[in-house]
Amino acid sequence: MTRVFHRQLHADYPVAVEGDGCYILDSTGKRYLDASGGAAVSCLGHSDPAVIEAITAQVRKLPFAHTGFFTNEPMEALAEALTDAAPGPLDHVYFVSGGSEAVEAALKMARQYFLEIGQPSRSRLIARRQSYHGNTLGALAAGGNQWRRAQFEPMLIEVSHVAPCYEYRDRRADETAEQYGARLAAELEAEILRLGPETVAAFIAEPVVGATAGALPPVPGYFRRIREVCDKYGVLLILDEVMCGMGRTGSLFAYEQEGIVPDLVTVAKGLGAGYQPIGAVLVHDRLYDAFRDGTGFFQHGHTYMGHATACAAALAVQHRLSEPGMMAEVQAKGAAVMDALRDRLGDHPHVGDIRGRGLFLGLELVADRVSRQPFDPAKRLHARLKKAALARGLMIYPMGGTIDGRTGDHALLAPPFILSEAQVGELVDKLAASLTDVFAEVAP
Ligand code: PMP
Repeated sequence: MTRVFHRQLHADYPVAVEGDGCYILDSTGKRYLDASGGAAVSCLGHSDPAVIEAITAQVRKLPFAHTGFFTNEPMEALAEALTDAAPGPLDHVYFVSGGSEAVEAALKMARQYFLEIGQPSRSRLIARRQSYHGNTLGALAAGGNQWRRAQFEPMLIEVSHVAPCYEYRDRRADETAEQYGARLAAELEAEILRLGPETVAAFIAEPVVGATAGALPPVPGYFRRIREVCDKYGVLLILDEVMCGMGRTGSLFAYEQEGIVPDLVTVAKGLGAGYQPIGAVLVHDRLYDAFRDGTGFFQHGHTYMGHATACAAALAVQHRLSEPGMMAEVQAKGAAVMDALRDRLGDHPHVGDIRGRGLFLGLELVADRVSRQPFDPAKRLHARLKKAALARGLMIYPMGGTIDGRTGDHALLAPPFILSEAQVGELVDKLAASLTDVFAEVAP
């Protein structure tokens, strides 16, 4: 009997014992191709020698020094590497231990910024319904996933939610992609006006949606319009790149492809690539300067922030990600996986959409391709697909249930950037076979 209070108390999980490149091995010796990087985490696979070496060296030298007393060498170097790589004046970094912590810090930083500049009425937040920003109470309040939120709603701060950018489901037949993006930005503007611009602190969104809709990129121009609306009303723009950042979409930061500069950016997952738990908030100079010239103190903090060993791991990951050609490789491999998926599953009667950017790809399953009618959520197709794939030695990240008042079944693919051509074939073969397994047991 397990003594672990696992997230699923009745699930019979295999015991992971070893990592080997893109594979995880369990205690029976079975190999799983990690086509989801866990949850878009393991961008370098599970046995990168340079990262392992960096961790070992740091633990020997100095595992941890509390930030109440010290800064440390890998934290300083990592901050420099990240800010040098981030376009725009995002020149300061606040380190934490994961994605939810990064979002919490960004939300609180946005609030305190307005106190620092003498606008204390600004405390409200706006987010999007099709979104996930983490599981701590503040981050959960920002997210729109009803399934995750429902039982905690009495404990959640009030956050306004506007429509996501979900072209497959929401773009009207009579509008262009640009018009659709403009309509969504107008909805944000209307919400800011409804709340009163002087009360709104920030708008938060994922550049490419991950955990609620299987890799959902924005339409062209959407984020430029959103940036304009935020600027018009003095609202901060927080981009949550916890899942889509760190090269996942083919550029180190996903916002690089949107032609805008956000005020705050959260990153995690790929930052430590699973070798160590770490997250971060990149902060615009304007905000940093306000804190420096104001109270000089951000009223926040966690014991493990700026953890020396975690920073050393993330620094080694950054070195790997900044190797010449690495981002081009992500783009090329992403295109190869996308082509292979479209080849094999493009005509599948229950694959409604195959989408994504870089090596961040998603499938949306539908009962009917023409009407785009989703499956009855009671069938729990996404969970069945995960199970069927695991049985075949393939990890995919499933999502489903009710989000934004509607239902859907999605599968997210976020394989390591070191995926080989043969592994692209293995991924698509196993995924196609798993879909066949599922539809053999579930009548649409
Ligand atoms: N933001 C986004 C966009 C995420 O995808 C996630 C995790 N799936 C989080 C925040 C929360 O990160 P963590 O699980 O590391 O707390």
